Amino acid sequence: MLLSIVVPCFNEDDVLTRFHARVTDELSRLDGEFELVYVDDGSRDRTLPLLQELAAADPGRIRYVSFSRNFGKEAAMLAGLRHAAGDAVVIMDADLQHPPELVHRMVALHAEGYDQVVARRTREGDRVTRTLTARLYYRAINRLVDVELVDGVGDFRLLSRRTVDALLGLGEYNRFSKGLFAWVGFRTTTFSYENAVREEGRSKWTFGKLLNYGLDGLLSFNNKPLRAAVYLGLLLVSLASLYAAWIVVDALASGVDTPGYVTLLVAVTALAGVQMVMVGLIGEYVGRIYYEVKRRPHYLVQETEAGQEEREMRADTRRSGDSLWETVAPK
Ligand code: UDP
Ligand code: MG
Repeated sequence: MLLSIVVPCFNEDDVLTRFHARVTDELSRLDGEFELVYVDDGSRDRTLPLLQELAAADPGRIRYVSFSRNFGKEAAMLAGLRHAAGDAVVIMDADLQHPPELVHRMVALHAEGYDQVVARRTREGDRVTRTLTARLYYRAINRLVDVELVDGVGDFRLLSRRTVDALLGLGEYNRFSKGLFAWVGFRTTTFSYENAVREEGRSKWTFGKLLNYGLDGLLSFNNKPLRAAVYLGLLLVSLASLYAAWIVVDALASGVDTPGYVTLLVAVTALAGVQMVMVGLIGEYVGRIYYEVKRRPHYLVQETEAGQEEREMRADTRRSGDSLWETVAPK
C-alpha cells in the first residue's frame, strides 16, 4: 500500500525542517510505502527553497507543487490531492499542530475498512472566546446546512482512494472542504486528539478571516438563507399590514393626530436594514455563480519537483473540456 501525505504550506520555513524530520521518522515505521506531497501556497519566505532541497535529497518520495501566488489552503489541499498517487491520502498541516504519530492510528483504522478516518481535536488550550464562538457557530450552522459539520473536525484526516476521487470530481470553484468531506460520505470514523499549540510562526487565521470562512460554510451548502429571507419578508409584510389596519381604524375612530414621526423613522430604517441584508445575501449567491461560470482554475502551478515553470492545468482542463491550456503547455 502506498500512503500519500499532503501538506499545504504557507510561509512555514521555521517549522518545515522539523516537521519533515518528524513525519519521515513516523512514516518509516509504517509497513508499506509512502510519499510526501508538499504544496507551497505562494510562500514569500524560504519555504520553496527548503522544499527543493528536500525533494532533491529523496527524489520520487518527496514531491512538491509550488503555486504562482497564495491561493489559500483550500486550493493547496486540492492540488495536493490531485498530485497524490497513494491508495490512501492523509492531509496534514505543516505547523506540527497535527501530531504525525497519529498516522499509525489512521492507517490501522483504514485497514479495518474505513474510507475517512477523521482526527477530531479537543479545544483545550484555545482561547475561551474562540471555543465559545466555535460552539455557537456549529450549533447554528447544523440547523441550516444539509450536511453535518462537527466542531473540532478539520482537514486532518485520512482519505481512501475512492474518497479522494470523489472529492476531485467535485469541481466547484468555491470550496468549503469541511462540507465537501461530509457531503462525500463513505464509511467514516472519528477519534479525538489533544490539540497541540502552534510551535513556530503564527496562525494565518484572523478574526475577520474566520468570520468569512463561517459565512462561506453557510452559503456553500444550500439556499436555506434565501428561503429564510423570503419568510422574513412575508413576516414583515403581515406585521406591516396589521399595523396599517390598526392605524386606519384608529384614525377613523379618533381622528388624526400627527405625532408618529419616531415610529415612522424607526420602521423605515429597520426595513431598509432588513432589505440591505437580503440584497447582500442574494448578492453573495450571485457572486458565487459569477465565480463558477468563469471556470477559472483553482490555482496556477509555477513549479513542481518534476520540472521548473511547468504550467500544469490538466486536471482543470479535464473538467472544463477546454483545450486552451493544453495548447499553451503541451505535456
Ligand atoms: N495554509 C496554506 N495557505 C494559506 C494559509 C494556510 O497553505 O493561505 C496552510 C498553513 O501553512 C498550515 C495550514 O494551512 O500548514 C493551517 O494553517 P494555520 O496553521 O495558519 O491555521 P490554523 O492551524 O490556525 O487553523
Ligand atoms: Mg495551525
